[in-house]
This record gives sequence, C-alpha cells and structure tokens, in this order.
Amino acid sequence: MPHFRPFGPTALAAALLVPLAGCASVADGAEPHPHARVRPDGTAGDGGGTGDGDSGGTDSGHGGDGADGEDDREDGDGGGDKPLSGFTVVIDPGHNGGNADAAEEISRMVPAGPHDKECDTVGAESESGYEEHAFNLDFSRHMRDELESRGAEVVLTRQDGDGVGPCIDERAEIGNEAGADAAVSVHADGGPESGRGFHVIAPGELDGFTDDIAGPSMRLAEELRDTFEADAGVPTADYLAEDGLDERTDLGGLNMSDVPKVFLEAGNMRNADDAELLEDARWREEAAAVAADGVAAFLLAEEG
Ligand SMILES: [Zn+2]
Repeated sequence: MPHFRPFGPTALAAALLVPLAGCASVADGAEPHPHARVRPDGTAGDGGGTGDGDSGGTDSGHGGDGADGEDDREDGDGGGDKPLSGFTVVIDPGHNGGNADAAEEISRMVPAGPHDKECDTVGAESESGYEEHAFNLDFSRHMRDELESRGAEVVLTRQDGDGVGPCIDERAEIGNEAGADAAVSVHADGGPESGRGFHVIAPGELDGFTDDIAGPSMRLAEELRDTFEADAGVPTADYLAEDGLDERTDLGGLNMSDVPKVFLEAGNMRNADDAELLEDARWREEAAAVAADGVAAFLLAEEG
C-alpha cells in the first residue's frame, strides 16, 4: 500500500472512502472493471456517483459527414499546413500525483451532475508500479504538442504531476471557459488482469446537463475510437464497453461539460500486454499522435 501514510482519525476516515487505484477503484483490482462501473453504494467510480454506468450506447450519434470544408484541410498555401488553426482543444490528464497523499482533499464532494461526487480519485497503477496519473500527463503533453503543431490552441487542465486535483467539476469548467471545440480526458483503466484494450467514454443524455453535448460528444468518441483502433496498435476493450465505445451518465467530468467531451481510456494498466504499451515512452508518443488524428478528424468534420 504505497499510498498509505499515517493519518489522523478524520483523515483516515476520509482515506477509507478514497479509491486507491483502478483508475476509479481499489488497488487490488477486486472489482472486475472498476472504471466503468459504479459501486453498489454509488460512492466510487472515477468520481463515483450514482450513475447507472450504462454500457454500450453505440447507437446514438453519427460520424461527421465532412462533405464540405475541404478548403480548410488542404495542404499547401494559406494555413493549409495548419489545418487546426482557429480550433481550441482542452486535454485533461486524469488524476494527479499528489492525490494519493491528499485523501481528505480529493474526497470532498463537488457538483458532478444530478448528484455530487468526490473531487478526484487516485487512479490506476500497473503491476510494475507505473502510475496512471503519470501516463495521463505524458500522453496528454504529446497530444498537445501534436495538436499545436497543426495549429490548434491547446489547454491542459493540469501542468505537472505533483499537485492535487483539480476536481472533476473544475476540469470540466476549464473546457467550458476555454470555449473548447473538443475536450478529451486522458486515462488508463484499472480493469481485470485478463481484460485488455482501450475504450472511449461519451456522456449519455442527461436533461439540463449533457443533452446539449451528447450528440457531438458521441461523434468525437466515434472518431477517436475509429482512429485509435486503426492506428494505435491496441485493440478495443474486450472486458467492457461495446466496440470500444461506452456511454455513461455518472462521470462528473462529462456531466459538467458544456463542450463536446469524451474520456479516452487508452488501455488497461492491470493487463500485462496493455501495460507493456502504456509503459513504453515511444508508444505513448505515437499513440498520442494517433489520438490527435482522431480529434482533428472530428473538428474538421464538425466544421464542414
Ligand atoms: Zn483514470
């Protein structure tokens, strides 16, 4: 239990409520797929809550038609080599390196949609001890670099791996304030050892929360899924979601967003095959560029 330190009674009580790993849940992987499911008491998850953790949900939304707008993606003159000029993208590296030692702070309840949830969670960890928050930040920085090289303005929700939070509602607010054309929260799951693969989570429709972003968010999810499945060298998840797509109404980071937003769960840190990729610096850089391709495809299709 590397994250445990002596706590006072209050902090200890708070610590017991904080998922230690699993991207969303317990460190020992006792839950079959913690990131995608809400605990029976509705207090945990990648922000816990009382959502229904509905899986599947691939039937809403459609890929962008992209029939027009070719001018903006042509190579050559006039910004053609900067096809994403004018677009703003928010990349949200999930969790943070200080969360494990800030149980009380991250278990504070914050607005997360119809119900409040914990501010943040610790995140998952691979067998060798590679921590999800570090993966998320490195991958997000590569995505940022790639998108910026194509002309996009990119905002990260955290700049380093030493702090605490920000809370899930703040992460969403950063995207809202930026007026982002797309927002991607980067994670790696803490699923069962036997299950591998990536998946993308889109917000299900919640009146007053996500009804305005569910459609474009699903289109973003589909573009990202298609691109990642084709080029990232990791299969779609075989232990949850459906064809690499999931739809959830329990994630505050999605529910509180007013801009199209998805979660990318780039792989399962608890699976040896996935962990080998996730821990590979070169794979992270290449896969992040692939994820950027997916975001770019969405942006250009929406514009068209
Ligand atoms: Zn996570």
